Amino acid sequence: MPDNFDSVREYLKQQAELFPEDFYIRGGANDSSEKVAESRPVYNPEHPPYEPPVTGKLSAYEKQIHGCKRCPLGESRTKFVFGVGDKSADLMFIGEAPGYYEDQQGEPFVGEAGQLLDKILAAIDLTREEVFIGNVLKCRPPQNRDPKKSEIEECEPYLIEQINLVQPKAIIALGRVAGNTLLKKSTSLRDLRGHTWDYHGTDLIVTYHPAALLRNKKLKRPTWEDFQKIQRNYL
Ligand code: SF4
Repeated sequence: MPDNFDSVREYLKQQAELFPEDFYIRGGANDSSEKVAESRPVYNPEHPPYEPPVTGKLSAYEKQIHGCKRCPLGESRTKFVFGVGDKSADLMFIGEAPGYYEDQQGEPFVGEAGQLLDKILAAIDLTREEVFIGNVLKCRPPQNRDPKKSEIEECEPYLIEQINLVQPKAIIALGRVAGNTLLKKSTSLRDLRGHTWDYHGTDLIVTYHPAALLRNKKLKRPTWEDFQKIQRNYL
């Protein structure tokens, strides 16, 4: 089970996601001071270089990079979380980073939020096996803290390769942090929702993270509207 500190920190992060204008966490989503300090990743020559896929196959790419230690999270993780699902899915769902259960099991979205995501997918006649589900970061940040800019810069090229291999019709970013990370923005979920963005040539939609829906049931209706639109446009 996650320790109490993990639970409290996760709760505060979700509150910040829901009420970004009203909420402040040091080191959290609204704290730009750490992000400025992190703006230049320090190159460590002992870290292995970035590896593009050698075979053009997603499963082979997972085997190729599963031992990655290009950033310090490679040392602290329990399991590398590559992502799961259809290797040629029409939809790719992308969260921020693995949490406690994902780190333990090596699979994304396996906790309560993941079960809710499965239900939402079922409502548009999909199973998790028919989409691809992953995260921007493949390894869990300690205590579920926000990803650091340096970690994103090291890890995001893997996600871009995954998208190139899967070639989805659309990417669905789950939550404000995932949306802002992929779009290189720093804005509210309200501003990110309702648009079709471009992410390296693929349509990108931003909607609420299922964990936010567990905290605030009022978000279910707008989320359902987003998913209906996704179903209409891409399925
Ligand atoms: S988070 Fe990404 S870059 Fe960092 S060690 Fe894990 S796979 Fe490698």
